[in-house]
Amino acid sequence: MSGDPFLELKREAYRWLSDERARAGMERASASFEASRRLLEGNAYVEELAREVREVKRRALRELESLVARARESLERNGAHVVVARTRDDALRAVGDIVGSGKLVVKSKSIVTEELGLREYLRGLGNEVWETDLGEFLLQISGNRPSHFVAVSMHLPREEVLDLLREKLNYRGPGDVPSMVGAVREFLRDRIMRADVGITGANAVAAEDGAVVQVENEGNARLTGTVPPVNVVVTGIDKVVPTLVDAFRVALLESYYVGGTPPTYVNVTSGPSGTRDVEHVLVRPAQGAKEMHVVLVDNGRSAALGTPLEEVLACIRCGSCQLACPVLTTVGPAWSSGAYMGGIGVLWTAITMGAGAARPLADMCAECRVCEEYCPMGIRVGLLAGEIKRGAGQT
Ligand code: SF4
Repeated sequence: MSGDPFLELKREAYRWLSDERARAGMERASASFEASRRLLEGNAYVEELAREVREVKRRALRELESLVARARESLERNGAHVVVARTRDDALRAVGDIVGSGKLVVKSKSIVTEELGLREYLRGLGNEVWETDLGEFLLQISGNRPSHFVAVSMHLPREEVLDLLREKLNYRGPGDVPSMVGAVREFLRDRIMRADVGITGANAVAAEDGAVVQVENEGNARLTGTVPPVNVVVTGIDKVVPTLVDAFRVALLESYYVGGTPPTYVNVTSGPSGTRDVEHVLVRPAQGAKEMHVVLVDNGRSAALGTPLEEVLACIRCGSCQLACPVLTTVGPAWSSGAYMGGIGVLWTAITMGAGAARPLADMCAECRVCEEYCPMGIRVGLLAGEIKRGAGQT
């Protein structure tokens, strides 16, 4: 070990470069991305949506503190318990206090929980924790890191998935993708149905309405948030926007930029389940979760306001820039601080872990700025990563 973080990163990158299977996975994912990108070309509806979301997010960042306070009030009015966590430790403690120990916990995909290291923390408290998103589940059982915000396991080709399922789930079925997905579905459904706590994320939080919006395709987030008696939503304060209509816009845009199509599911949660069917009297719970908790994580975000990194807080984590990046699509999860990878990962690392942690990652940025052509939010990813490389522009 050299002790030089940049050399360590380079070593890791060379290791990935010589991994034929990982390269095959990345190449297949990039080709599929190109196909879905083509669906968006000249789509006036999506272009208009992007323009609206840029405006919504810019306005939201100007009044973020008061929007977070309003979101808290509205969610509490709707029956949720809310914690605004200033630091990573505060956030972990808040979730740990809700979950306790000895529980079966299921999770849907959430970049903020990766940022916190929540799964490992909850396991350390003596809980059994399962990721229910297929890609996250594959990372969990393989001990791998994510290589993309949304397509987290894009570096794992089907051959490797088959080996993993054989080893970890004792899977003996065929190696075609539908059969493997079916096996994981059975495994995870059993855990979801028995779980004590379901942890979910958010694409956006509506301050006025007190509602959390999440898009997904697998249906796992919907089950994770409603089947277990306790639902804990963990997300960043940057996700708060004024209204539910704004939140829908953000969520839809993210979905279009990920796959070129609308999401299969849009989940809106504004409190624990309830009914007014008898004499219009509200009774909780009904069929869904009995409790809803929302942990809004700051962890460096409010400190980025008023700095060159403020524009990064408008990022909707669509990962479009990541799939366009020639470095990330070559070295995969080697160019990452854990939750955050690629050029945009440099910037999120600077916000959540500080410029010292981000600088070795910034050294790997080619500064070609191709990523910026693909960003619906107009974030100057390559420019800002270059500034961090040269020791300017960080929080
Ligand atoms: S920087 Fe832009 S393209 Fe990249 S993830 Fe964020 S919003 Fe998407």
